[in-house]
Amino acid sequence: MKIAILSRNPKLYSTRRLVEAAKERGHEVRVFDHLRCYMNITSMKPSISYRGEKLEGYDAVIPRIGASVTFYGTAVLRQFEMMGVYPLNESVAISRSRDKLRSVQLLARKGIGLPVTGFARSPDDVDDLLASVGGAPVVIKLLEGTQGIGVVLAETKKAAESVIEAFMGLNANILVQEFIKEADGADIRCFVVDGKVVAAMKRQGKEGEFRSNLHRGGNATVIRITPEERSTAVRAASIMGLNVAGVDLLRSNHGPVVMEVNSSPGLEGIEGATGKDIAGMIISCIEKNAGTGNTRTRGK
Ligand code: ADP
Ligand code: GLU
Repeated sequence: MKIAILSRNPKLYSTRRLVEAAKERGHEVRVFDHLRCYMNITSMKPSISYRGEKLEGYDAVIPRIGASVTFYGTAVLRQFEMMGVYPLNESVAISRSRDKLRSVQLLARKGIGLPVTGFARSPDDVDDLLASVGGAPVVIKLLEGTQGIGVVLAETKKAAESVIEAFMGLNANILVQEFIKEADGADIRCFVVDGKVVAAMKRQGKEGEFRSNLHRGGNATVIRITPEERSTAVRAASIMGLNVAGVDLLRSNHGPVVMEVNSSPGLEGIEGATGKDIAGMIISCIEKNAGTGNTRTRGK
């Protein structure tokens, strides 16, 4: 097969591993910086160009689109879809997963366990909003945040009010969430490929840190997950319409709760912690699904 990888940087661990795994399996693979792809969207025969070259004959495309360039990156991916190229994850599923509020709403509708979460626009509603999620301590999240930046723990009602008012004053969209204290600064990353959890790791925040993000200094170890955690992760990925997803769970007193469903999960942490060839599993998923007129991965 001829596989395109959309990635800003071919030197990134995940990109390198995907290239390696595709070559090992005898595929032709190239990496394109999606910000350098340009396209003619009006023509009857949609096309994509890259530094003067027309990209043609691709069977599959692997999007590795960073959160800061979701808009342009998904437009490029959608153009590949228009050309009939199989996307590992579909553009609408990526956009959906990048919107935390929309994600929570879709997951809640299907009965997935979530932290009690509230959303409001006006400072006048802050009191009621706080009460509705059970009062302080609460976690306040910027809707556009990533890698744990813009996630704040407010221990008291006073602190929560001032943080919420500050964010609202900046016109930022925020979620207010019940604080899952019993998770103890740890979360579980379930790596889902093609409807199965193929690997899982526990990430523990550094001492005194409630956020477990590796970017915030957390560390990862391999973990055995329960059948309930497994099925929650698989269902969450499927509801979002993602073939490949990193589903982050917290162990709460009311069962596993989903934190986030990531559509471009990194390979370095999970391959390092588990020793598994996740890149190879992703390429097999493409071999299985591409080229059967299967260019859609509908959300539920
Ligand atoms: P990001 O998308 O920026 O990583 P998350 O919503 O995943 O933001 O939050 C980052 C980390 O903060 C989570 O992985 C988790 O460890 C911790 N965290 C987030 N929300 C809660 C919560 N409601 N209760 C307890 N810990 C939380
Ligand atoms: N399948 C979902 C629905 O029909 C997707 C909606 C969305 O992505 O917002 O509601």
